[in-house]
Amino acid sequence: MSKIEKVAVVGAGTMGSGIAHAFARSGFEVLLCDVEQRFLDRALESIKTNLAREAAKGKLPSGEIEPALARITPTTDREQLASVQMVVEAAPERFDLKAEIFRSLDRILPADAILATNTSSISITRLAALTQRPSQVIGMHFFNPVPMMALVEVVRGIATSDASFATVEALAIELGKTPVAVNDAPGFVSNRVLMPLINEAAYTVLEGVATPEAVDQVFKLGMAHPMGPLTLADFIGLDVCVDIMRVLQEGFGNPKYAPCPLLVKMVDAGWLGRKSGRGFYSYK
Ligand code: NAD
Repeated sequence: MSKIEKVAVVGAGTMGSGIAHAFARSGFEVLLCDVEQRFLDRALESIKTNLAREAAKGKLPSGEIEPALARITPTTDREQLASVQMVVEAAPERFDLKAEIFRSLDRILPADAILATNTSSISITRLAALTQRPSQVIGMHFFNPVPMMALVEVVRGIATSDASFATVEALAIELGKTPVAVNDAPGFVSNRVLMPLINEAAYTVLEGVATPEAVDQVFKLGMAHPMGPLTLADFIGLDVCVDIMRVLQEGFGNPKYAPCPLLVKMVDAGWLGRKSGRGFYSYK
C-alpha cells in the first residue's frame, strides 16, 4: 500500500476531534465525519482552541495553526470517504452502532484501506468479522486528551495482518505518539487494569473506608499518580466506567468485574462526573 497521506475520522466527539487534531498537525489530510453539522462545527471550534493552546505553550509554531485547520475537511456524507487510505472510527461505544459503521465503510473504502477503531473495550475480532477485510481491521486506541497523551494501544484482532499492524505502528510514531502492542481481549491492557482500580476505589468510599479526597491523596502521594482514581473517574465519566466494567464482566464471565453499586447509583442519579457537573466531586 502507498504511504498514508489521507485519513478519515468517523465521530467528531471528544476523541474524534482530538484524533483529527493529531493527524492534521502532523501533515495528514483529514476528512472528519459526523452525523450532524453542529457536531462538526463544535469539533472544529475545539480543535482551533487546542491548536492555539499548543502554540501558546511553544509546542507548535503559530503559523502552523491555520494550515493544520485547513487540512481538516468536515463532512456529514459518509460516501466522501471513498478517497481515504485509512479510517479511525471514534463513534460512541455501542457495538450495534460501530457494526453499522464498519459494514458501510467496508463497502465505501478502497479495498486496501485500513479500518481502525478507537474503541475502549469492544472486540476488534468481532468488528473485523463484519467486513470483507478482516486482516486490515485493527484497534488504534488513543487516550484523552489526545493531543497531550503519548500512548496509543495498537490492538491486533485474531485476523489482523503484520502489514496492517506495522502501518498503524508507524503512523502512531509519525503522530509523535508511542505505540504499544496488545492483543484483543476485553479492555485490552489499559482499561482491564485501570477500571478495576477505579471500581475498588469506589468500594472504599461506599464502605466508608475513606472519603474520595483521602482515596485520591493515597494514590497521588503514595503511588505518584498525577491524579487520584476518583478524580480520574470523574474525568472519564462514571457512565463510561460502568459500561466498561460491564464489558469486562461479560467478556471474562467473572463476577469480580461487576460495577460497584455506588458507581451504578451515581450514574442512575445523573452524576456522571465532570461532564454533568457532579460526580465524586462537584464542578459547579
Ligand atoms: P463522544 O460521545 O464524545 O463522541 C462520539 C461522536 O460520534 C459524537 O460526536 C456523535 O455525534 C458521533 N456519532 C454518533 N453516531 C455516529 C455515526 N453513525 N457516524 C459518525 N459519527 C457518529 O464519544 P468519545 O468519548 O469521543 O468516544 C468515542 C470512542 O472513543 C468510543 O469508542 C470510546 O470508547 C473511545 N474512547 C474514549 C475515551 C474517552 O476518554 N472519552 C478514551 C479512549 C477511547
